[in-house]
Amino acid sequence: MRVAEISLPAIRHNVARIRELTGGAVIVVVKADGYGHGARAAAAAALEAGATMVATADLEEALALREAGIGAPILCWLHGVRVDFSEAVAAGIEIGISHAQQLEHLAAAATRLGRTAVVQLKVDTGLSRNGAAPEEWAPLFARAAELEAAGAIRVRGVFSHLANAGDAHDRAQAARFDEAIAALRAVGIEPELIHLAASAATLTLPHLHYNAVRVGVAAYGLSPFADKTSAQLGLVPAMTLRSEIVALRAVPAGTGVSYGYNHVCETATTLALVPMGYADGMPRALNGAGAWVTIAGEHRPIVGRIGMDQFIVDVGPIAGRIDLGEPVVLFGDPERGHPPVEIWAGLMRTINYEIIVGIGPRVRRIPV
Ligand code: PLP
Repeated sequence: MRVAEISLPAIRHNVARIRELTGGAVIVVVKADGYGHGARAAAAAALEAGATMVATADLEEALALREAGIGAPILCWLHGVRVDFSEAVAAGIEIGISHAQQLEHLAAAATRLGRTAVVQLKVDTGLSRNGAAPEEWAPLFARAAELEAAGAIRVRGVFSHLANAGDAHDRAQAARFDEAIAALRAVGIEPELIHLAASAATLTLPHLHYNAVRVGVAAYGLSPFADKTSAQLGLVPAMTLRSEIVALRAVPAGTGVSYGYNHVCETATTLALVPMGYADGMPRALNGAGAWVTIAGEHRPIVGRIGMDQFIVDVGPIAGRIDLGEPVVLFGDPERGHPPVEIWAGLMRTINYEIIVGIGPRVRRIPV
């Protein structure tokens, strides 16, 4: 009754498209449960299509993927202060390191286990977020070189993240990234993987590809740009959010709909009940904003307040040719006639990312 169909062929297509555009290694970001698509399925599809590694924010997410049978390299980069890296080292998870204390914790865990921890150094080149700041590079890199010589760690990569793609800021960040790479080389570390570009720079700024890219949203077929659609970028949206009509009712003109009656039917019509609501990640504020769904190939408006579990669609003009159980598409691939997720994102003044990661746990992910 509440389903997110996940097209694994679409994920494979998108990863193949990114490989075609870049030529280097492709790291696919599967944090936040694969941007809401299911981390394991997304990771497996991406790897089948030739991704080099997958990445998460948290170590817990990385370990869950390893436990779920993903044997490929996994990188994670956002750590709690008291994180115990032992499991990560034992499971061969690559650790993004942003500061000296993390590096010491990790090296100590590796030494205890008699193993070598694999590290990717995360440098902040201007996002002012996670990552070592330029003034920390020299001591951090020197210590990394010492620990590498001692066999506690191996530095496999260096990476950074852009604040903007396609303006003067990214040029300044790239220049700082080049300085970080030079500083690493100066202490004798030659990283195998060098990555700066996420989806936006991957799709439009080839000079920022280095020898690897780190893509999230594009792998799921969505555009990171407000002014470019998935189709214009050669991507196919992988998630189709579906439900069904579970009740139909003919109503007279003047009927108030849902809490607060903020929609009143102007004419006699038919109302369809769809069992999906804000507990499932449908923004409640879509109410009255002009959102629509696809039913029997037609665009029909959502009317009245969205509830926790259900909402109403005015299906008057198509009432004669639909019945209970009729499929309802909330968003999907506009090339197949579905509403694009960007409609919700636009109405909510947010980005498509927030909508897809917000689809709730009651919605069954069904790989297709
Ligand atoms: N790299 C880092 C460090 C990130 O935090 C993210 C996502 O927020 C990504 C890559 C992927 O970004 P995108 O989904 O825009 O490709």
